[in-house]
Amino acid sequence: MIKKYFIPTIYIKNYRTLNLEKLREYGIKVLCIDVDNTLVPPHTANLDNDAIAFIQRVKDNGLLPVIISNNTEKRVQGVANQVNVDFYSFSCKPCKYNYIKILRDTKCTKNEVAVLGDQLVTDILGGNRMNFLTILQDPISDIENTSGKITRKIETKILATLSKNESLKKGTYYDNM
Ligand SMILES: [Mg+2]
Repeated sequence: MIKKYFIPTIYIKNYRTLNLEKLREYGIKVLCIDVDNTLVPPHTANLDNDAIAFIQRVKDNGLLPVIISNNTEKRVQGVANQVNVDFYSFSCKPCKYNYIKILRDTKCTKNEVAVLGDQLVTDILGGNRMNFLTILQDPISDIENTSGKITRKIETKILATLSKNESLKKGTYYDNM
């Protein structure tokens, strides 16, 4: 059971290496992107050039990027506005409600949505509960905000279990799409 909920479809080091063409060919239309430690380090307000270029690359590949975060409206809106994408804040991932909202707003089906994030307990669990394609990346910094610290602690325990049976190992990247 733990495997079903916590194993991402794809595990990459960083969004820069994400094969967006392949996602599009697979039928993905919407990419839900986490903010903290996925696009930008916590407590940093501005996206760097790599993050801005990535969002543009998502758009250029015909996918719709949306930002979904557990952080506050002020922070998430500030990030989303820099790249002109829709955002969903206070999402309480792994809760489903904002993912359901995204399905409704984009008029997409579950198999047309992918989730990209840096945490098993929020992004990957939430996406897997929705039966979305899930993409895990390594966090872009060692700094965590308060909620991130808690979920990362839980994640460490889950990772220990998953790495025992070789299901998921930190730094062993794969693509099971
Ligand atoms: Mg995150």
